[in-house]
Amino acid sequence: MLELPDVERMIEGFSGYATGKTISLVVIDDPGSVNLDPEAARQHIESHAIDAVERHGKNIVLRFRSEHSLVFEMEDGGSIYLESQTVPPDDNSRVRLQFAAGRELRFDSPSNRHVVHLLANGDSSTLGGPRSLGIDPLSDDLTAEKFIETSTSHPRSSLKGLLMNPAAIAGIGNEYADEICFQAGYRPDLRVGQMTDDELARVHLYLRRVLKRATLHWQAAHADPGWLINHRVKGKPCPRCSTKLTTINLIGRKTYICVRCQQAA
Ligand SMILES: [Zn+2]
Repeated sequence: MLELPDVERMIEGFSGYATGKTISLVVIDDPGSVNLDPEAARQHIESHAIDAVERHGKNIVLRFRSEHSLVFEMEDGGSIYLESQTVPPDDNSRVRLQFAAGRELRFDSPSNRHVVHLLANGDSSTLGGPRSLGIDPLSDDLTAEKFIETSTSHPRSSLKGLLMNPAAIAGIGNEYADEICFQAGYRPDLRVGQMTDDELARVHLYLRRVLKRATLHWQAAHADPGWLINHRVKGKPCPRCSTKLTTINLIGRKTYICVRCQQAA
């Protein structure tokens, strides 16, 4: 599953090259799957430079000097990467943004629904594209107080359900939600309304720790024997206490738990 740290790595792969460069041509390979009018793309993207590359949840946002942004909704199997214009595009190529020097930024996606949106700048709530997205978990706006406040408005949700609710917190997927619960020491099926402020503050602390480390030191995190993410096999011993890991189904997702390390209430 595509997770927030994967999207960060994708951005690292092209932002240094693309930022400040002007798009010479927009090629729409699959008009049916992008919410992008060719005339609007010509007007607001072509001949305009990319000012900044940003991420909100799992969406990648290209801000242009034309005061417009392109928002790419990244889903499983989707990617944005640099390629030479001489290499033929993949079958699931959706949009290509060409630079004068012969390279292009490619957006591939297996999804058929509208996954690219051209938006006017100025309203940060539009960064979610057509869906309103919650706070980005790595933004400074997600303080412990804000996390507790968000939790209070979803008292009946499970802890994992809250972490994975994109309208509350944008971009946490199945594996990192389990990792955050494991490292914080709480069962993911705990009802948020039954948790104290101190317990929620601890979840917030580990939410930031896990995602920051996975983003900044992806390889080290994915080689860390103490991380649950590297032991996701039912019956395998818990990396902390060697109790066999259990799986439960939570919000339709396979969820890994150590019943000894993670508090039920
Ligand atoms: Zn354990």
